[in-house]
This record gives sequence, C-alpha cells and structure tokens, in this order.
Amino acid sequence: MGMTGSPPPGFAPRTVRCPACGRPARYAPDNPWRPFCSARCKQVDLGAWASEAYRVPDPTPPTPGPETPPH
Ligand SMILES: [Zn+2]
Repeated sequence: MGMTGSPPPGFAPRTVRCPACGRPARYAPDNPWRPFCSARCKQVDLGAWASEAYRVPDPTPPTPGPETPPH
C-alpha cells in the first residue's frame, strides 16, 4: 500500500482569469473568492453592480396613473 501522490481526477484546482483584474486566480475550494483572485476583486465586482455602472438610465419622469373622475 503505497501513497499516491496524484489527486483524484476532476479534483485538481485550476487557474482561471480573475474577471475583475484579469490576473490568474486559483479556482479551488480553498479560494472562497473564486473565480476572483482575492476578496478585494470580488468586492470591486459587487461594488460595480451596486454603483451606477449597471444602473439603467431613466430619462422619462414617472408619470402618474390616469386619474378617473369620481362618478
Ligand atoms: Zn483579481
């Protein structure tokens, strides 16, 4: 019974590109920020969603509903 030095297939961590900064990010269970490379990059991405980067412009003012006169 010898020790196998190779991990089981499909379990090997991969290296992906961080969507925020484009640097290599470790895509593995030990990286809680995957597919980002760090917590800061994940925060940047979430911040972009919360900021005006993804805000839909609304040029038209809110129009009031049709007011029906009382009978
Ligand atoms: Zn990054």
